[in-house]
Amino acid sequence: MTATTDFAVLNLSGCSGCEVGLLNAEDWIGKYRLAYMPLILSSEDLPPVDKLIVSGSVYTDEDRYRLRQAARRAHQIIAVGTCAISGGVANLGYRDEVRELFFQATERHQLPRILPRLRPVDAVVPVDLYVPGCPPMPHLFTAALFNPKGYQTAKTVCLDCGRQKTRERPSRLLGFQRDVTDPVSCLINQGYLCVGSSTRGGCHAPCTRAGHPCVGCRGPSDGFISRSSQEWFEAMARVFQRMTDIPPQEIDQALHSPQLSLFIFQFADYAAVPREVEKVL
Ligand code: SF4
Ligand code: SF4
Repeated sequence: MTATTDFAVLNLSGCSGCEVGLLNAEDWIGKYRLAYMPLILSSEDLPPVDKLIVSGSVYTDEDRYRLRQAARRAHQIIAVGTCAISGGVANLGYRDEVRELFFQATERHQLPRILPRLRPVDAVVPVDLYVPGCPPMPHLFTAALFNPKGYQTAKTVCLDCGRQKTRERPSRLLGFQRDVTDPVSCLINQGYLCVGSSTRGGCHAPCTRAGHPCVGCRGPSDGFISRSSQEWFEAMARVFQRMTDIPPQEIDQALHSPQLSLFIFQFADYAAVPREVEKVL
């Protein structure tokens, strides 16, 4: 085993769900050497590695310091997960009501200093590859490590999903999920807030196949990667206008509601840092 097959995993502010996705991908075992991953390996210093996988966002000054130090020791940097790319769980703290609650608790001590604004990884160091998902599915980690250019991603989750669009036009949203869904027809035709039509594919649509609406964890499809989040939201809303009779205000409210859209509302502006579509897996 040579040093060029070593890789490291650096977790910044996030939930460690991406690491679980990586550990569920077994194909790298025996072919890559995991040289650093504080979550499961005790390792004081990050050694020089070929690939550095970064999860979590830059939310504290400690995150920023660790990321800069680690980036110096890696040939290639792979940002994985919604937090590293565009906000994610840590972005919850960016909501006014959450920040207020946080800072009201005056007895908090020994917490790292929170930066004025949450940053994606590429606002601090250059990124070679992005692997969106919350968390990315194990097969995406395998593709990222072995053959990112050869991995064919479906343009949208709809193409992975296989449910059929029908002429049913619901007039109300049913909420996130209620009851058992029809296994064949599109969840939008059933009145659910599914945003798979504007979301990047490649996950194999585990949620919609199981009857849960897609909440957009793979981020925007190619056409929206370099556009503002607002344009992405507008594209989602247009799909509902075309396929349903649900009032536009109801759709707009639902798309911005944590209860109904779960992940979408956690995205910082996706296009804040210009990104090349070719670098997104
Ligand atoms: S909108 Fe959702 S349920 Fe409908 S086809 Fe697309 S991914 Fe599947
Ligand atoms: S179906 Fe949607 S929410 Fe589920 S993994 Fe794929 S992109 Fe994420």
